Amino acid sequence: MTGASRTGCAVVTGGTRGIGAAVAERLRADGWTTATLGRSTGCDVRDPDQVAAAFDAIEAEHGPVLVLVNNAGVRDDGLAIRMSHEQWRTVLDTNLDGAFHCTKRALDSMLAARWGRIVNVSSVVALRANPGQANYAASKAGLVGFTKVVAREMARRGITCNAVTPGVIETDMTADVADAIVEHVPARRAGRPEEVAAAVSFLVSEEAAYVNGTTLTIDGALSA
Ligand code: NDP
Repeated sequence: MTGASRTGCAVVTGGTRGIGAAVAERLRADGWTTATLGRSTGCDVRDPDQVAAAFDAIEAEHGPVLVLVNNAGVRDDGLAIRMSHEQWRTVLDTNLDGAFHCTKRALDSMLAARWGRIVNVSSVVALRANPGQANYAASKAGLVGFTKVVAREMARRGITCNAVTPGVIETDMTADVADAIVEHVPARRAGRPEEVAAAVSFLVSEEAAYVNGTTLTIDGALSA
């Protein structure tokens, strides 16, 4: 039995473009009915009420959410000494709190089904410091810690929780910096959203049942 033959659906936050759109496309190709969440489609993951309403609507149409990919994210860079409270809050509220709101809601359905897959899209900056990204790095390192705790809490319930840490991936988010960073990447190129999606596809699969609480890095050896 593949995971996708289970009765239920997948949700990808921030699936309206970039990495999230590629992940949603891949999960659909794997056989999952997949819904995407984004501000442009009516759900801001920073707001737990909007998250609850979106999940209720998705489950009414497609059945229980059995796969959750917490991918929605923003960056708002600046040196820590000059970073505004608002810059800090926006990034933490989206990247970390948003994942918490969605995970908490999805776990209800996964526990009832005694099966679930959660993948948190962290970043290589959780592992390797990047000056100017104190807010972003804190959110992404926080996601790695969150991943490990959820994995341990749910390990006996058929639910896994893992993280991916992409390096430089060609999307809107990196349009202003990708060229400058690529020379530091041992692979000498940026990654493609589809390459992240392939890693997510594995972590979501039935075969990955014993892969739990870990982090899979997709960065062309940037953090090696
Ligand atoms: P994009 O900027 O291309 O896409 C970001 C996505 O997040 C959009 O779909 C956007 O949708 C959604 N989003 C942003 N804020 C919210 C919100 N408050 N509520 C709901 N959805 C939201 O980024 P990427 O595809 O590059 O990044 C995707 C994830 O991968 C992010 O978490 C990012 O931190 C991470 N990442 C990216 C890397 C890269 O090099 N690109 C490297 C490492 C990690 P909408 O505008 O509709 O809200």
